[in-house]
Amino acid sequence: MPPVDPQVKKEVDLGIQLPLMEAFYTIQGEGFHKGTAAYFVRIGGCDVGCHWCDVKESWNAKLHPPTRTEDIVSEALKHSNTVVVTGGEPLTWNMEPLTSALKERGAKVHIETSGAYNLTGQWDWICLSPKKVKQPLEPIYKEADELKVIVYNKHDLQFAEEQAAKVGEQCILYLQPEWSVRDKVMPLIVDYVMANPKWKVSLQTHKYLNIP
Ligand code: SF4
Repeated sequence: MPPVDPQVKKEVDLGIQLPLMEAFYTIQGEGFHKGTAAYFVRIGGCDVGCHWCDVKESWNAKLHPPTRTEDIVSEALKHSNTVVVTGGEPLTWNMEPLTSALKERGAKVHIETSGAYNLTGQWDWICLSPKKVKQPLEPIYKEADELKVIVYNKHDLQFAEEQAAKVGEQCILYLQPEWSVRDKVMPLIVDYVMANPKWKVSLQTHKYLNIP
């Protein structure tokens, strides 16, 4: 792999360029905004290390080309004025340039994050999806609009309650089966949500619809 141009590295450090893995227009499949058409921007780079991660190819930021945020914004707005920034872990990077440019041009900007790094950027909707292996930094809990806990096993329900105790009262609480074990954990989740109705079930409906 060729050495990184120092100017490009500087711009990535500032968030003027971002390692773009992919971007696509689709339907939000999960959480509060499920069913809503949105443009997804998937930023490379994540060192959280969830063993069940379904986008491991996002982890190494060096594999994803630094891309000017203004180009990401122009392309996004050709498709939608709702833009979901995901990863990878987007908060690995400074999200201010991307989100301020999107908002200046009238977009609604959502993030899907583990919360493991400082919250940067301006967001209309924050989906906090905490991970046991690298837990969120404290300040993001009160900013979260939805808490989405991925359930891989029974212990994740206890982790979900620990995380729910930290978010604000307005935050909507979701339990979502990890896709590869969905048949095994779904009965657990159904029973749990019926016994604890402050929680809702979130499904990865885009996977059932066979869309990205
Ligand atoms: S935080 Fe997200 S991208 Fe990172 S390892 Fe976990 S599931 Fe994968």
